[in-house]
Amino acid sequence: MKVLFITALTILAVGCNSAQTNKGKNMSREDYANTITSAELKTHLYEFASDEMQGRMTGEKGQKLAAEYLRNFYQDQGIASPIEENNYYQNIPAEYFRRMKEPKSSENVVAFIKGSEKPDEIIVLSAHYDHVGMENGEIFNGADDDGSGTIAMLEIAEAFQQAVKNGKGPKRSILFLHVTGEEIGLYGSKYYTENPIFPLANTVANLNTDMIGRIDPDKKDTPNYIYLIGSDKLSQELHDVSEAVAEKYSDLELDYKFNDENDPNRFYYRSDHYNFAKNNIPIIFYFNGVHEDYHKPTDTPDKIEYDLYAKRTQLIFQTAWEVANREERITADKL
Ligand SMILES: [Zn+2]
Repeated sequence: MKVLFITALTILAVGCNSAQTNKGKNMSREDYANTITSAELKTHLYEFASDEMQGRMTGEKGQKLAAEYLRNFYQDQGIASPIEENNYYQNIPAEYFRRMKEPKSSENVVAFIKGSEKPDEIIVLSAHYDHVGMENGEIFNGADDDGSGTIAMLEIAEAFQQAVKNGKGPKRSILFLHVTGEEIGLYGSKYYTENPIFPLANTVANLNTDMIGRIDPDKKDTPNYIYLIGSDKLSQELHDVSEAVAEKYSDLELDYKFNDENDPNRFYYRSDHYNFAKNNIPIIFYFNGVHEDYHKPTDTPDKIEYDLYAKRTQLIFQTAWEVANREERITADKL
């Protein structure tokens, strides 16, 4: 009886494994994109934007907990650090945060998938994981800003890592850069571009995500959109690739309202991609616009539109996949 039982189990296990392997080899880029689900985004975001993280203020306990959350995720996924084994932190000394009253050291969190054919060419995916902390005992959870971009990057990394496991990893390398100090002056991305882990000359493009889980009140009647900013500023090629990817793999409307040079909000200058653009690296900034809970304690995970958030994350994944795998490197052809 015992022997029989074990044999039956073994057959079952072998059957499952081979089925999984076969599917793995046949997975398309859409299948990888579809591993990014609203359910997984939601599970992570509820933890990452929980009260325990205390609003993730740069240098404070909540930000350190958030950094650990990210590091643990990459370790669990088997995604390496580009710095040294098991150290995913790019440390930034306290003195660097000049605008803070009491400067405290902080860290960018980095993870790396090495390209299979052109490992020296790097695509940087970025999102800031810090937020504005607490005020009068109220926690600013920052679910949309920028819990949404942060968790999107984790899911994108997981999708790429699945492809790596199936022998379909990206041709170029991808650096997952979770920057700190954004809310107090884009410090983490500035520090990275002044102290790059990989030469900026080899950095092909930066796709930056800051707030992608909500709907701009102006778009409430046409919510199937994402604002793109900066895609055509340095590289027509990047802009064209981004449009072609969206056309083929997404039904989202790409809205360029805030890409207008004369837009008074000047969003192009207001998130981390700008530090890459300043260095002539082509960028795209993905954004949902501001809303009534922007920089308020009410920016909480229950207000996120998870299905829309998943679609937007999948679009960013597909664009990164294209930029990482296409034959020719994207160039800053508008310089
Ligand atoms: Zn933000």
